[in-house]
Amino acid sequence: MAFELPKLAYAYNALEPHIDARTMEIHHTKHHQAYVTNLNNAIAGTDAEKLSIEEICKNISKYPMPVRNNGGGHYNHSMFWNIMGPNAGGEPTGELATAINTAFGTFAEFKTQFANAAATRFGSGWAWLIVKDGKLVVSSTPNQDNPLMDVAEVKGTPILGIDVWEHAYYLHYQNRRPDYVSAFWSVINWNQVAANLKAAK
Ligand code: MN
Repeated sequence: MAFELPKLAYAYNALEPHIDARTMEIHHTKHHQAYVTNLNNAIAGTDAEKLSIEEICKNISKYPMPVRNNGGGHYNHSMFWNIMGPNAGGEPTGELATAINTAFGTFAEFKTQFANAAATRFGSGWAWLIVKDGKLVVSSTPNQDNPLMDVAEVKGTPILGIDVWEHAYYLHYQNRRPDYVSAFWSVINWNQVAANLKAAK
């Protein structure tokens, strides 16, 4: 069973003006599609074809680099599309808000730490909010690595992530990664992040 490019739950222009339609379309149909295609090519004829993308990530050190790069790319982008949406943003509520306040003190302090992780990830990579030993932690990874991977510096289950590769923002924001990170708060689907937290626990 080959991996497939997931359909978006919203239109490419649904996240405007925060993330532009052209960036969304290229990101989904070209970048994510390439990760899926290259992952399928890399695992063709191997036992990994029978595994979920999560199972592959958790044992990624056993696989060659194309599986790590493209498997990570597939997992990361699949999550990324889901934790964004139109008419989103604002602040989390309920159990998620409590967990954030417990871990970081305030939502504002969490935002500061997450934005800092996104801004200081040198080159290409991701910043994350993860569940680690039952607690929320901010981390970041290079390239298409993620915190599920056994090679990650900080391991855990991601519930929110931001792509800080230039392809995620360059058309609209050029070199202004901090502006893109600021805009990201307006498109976060906190209901999905809350569901991810429940699933991670
Ligand atoms: Mn990307």
